[in-house]
Amino acid sequence: MFIDTHCHIHDRETYDFAISRQQKKSEEDFSPRQILKRARNNNVRKMIVVGTSEKDSLLARDFASAEKDVYWSWGVHPDEAEEYGLSEPVDNPVAIGEVGLDYHNGTDCREAQIKMLRMMIGFAKTRDLPLIFHVRDAFDDFWPIVDELGVERAVIHSFSDSEENLKKALDRGFYIGVNGLATFTDLPTPPLSRTLLETDAPFLAPVPVRGRVNEPSYVPFIAEFLAEKHGVDVKEIARITTKNAQDLFGI
Ligand SMILES: [Zn+2]
Repeated sequence: MFIDTHCHIHDRETYDFAISRQQKKSEEDFSPRQILKRARNNNVRKMIVVGTSEKDSLLARDFASAEKDVYWSWGVHPDEAEEYGLSEPVDNPVAIGEVGLDYHNGTDCREAQIKMLRMMIGFAKTRDLPLIFHVRDAFDDFWPIVDELGVERAVIHSFSDSEENLKKALDRGFYIGVNGLATFTDLPTPPLSRTLLETDAPFLAPVPVRGRVNEPSYVPFIAEFLAEKHGVDVKEIARITTKNAQDLFGI
């Protein structure tokens, strides 16, 4: 079985946006029911729907509470840092995230993002939850914060940075989330013992379905890519990455 450790299938607005923008038009039915059905049929047996704002985290919670094989996380994406109302996470997410730093569109929000990241790490520590990090063009600010606050259980989702920053993540015992981006970009490959599979659906659909609306049923394409890369059977990729996800998230 496979686990999609990072998707946004609870977020209708984002799905509708992705559907309106897809380059390869398809007649697929993207209702949550059909998305879940296709995932289950492709042996994707567990999924984590990831919150990106306070409101979105509650949508993730409600979506997950109706499905036995869907889990959710509570997070505020760094792009939302300035909107954040500083409230505490509610109920029982399996992780805090996605949270982090993103300077891709400039550093105007740097201070707000750093403040929020520190707070989110605090929430994770008091609740003994792992963190799902989103870090883009901001690792120089990121490492001193996680070191100071002593983060131990985390994944860096959609990792797309240098060998050097990959090594820093591995040195700290973090997992690395690999998605469709790896299938069409030249990225450093993490060891399997630290790899998690994710889609980040509805975006970043992997080769050979690139340009389509992404969904958890595409996880096996990422596993096949990694099987080729590591020279192992796809079943081995499924076994190791599933165990990694279960170890980190307790699911
Ligand atoms: Zn995401």
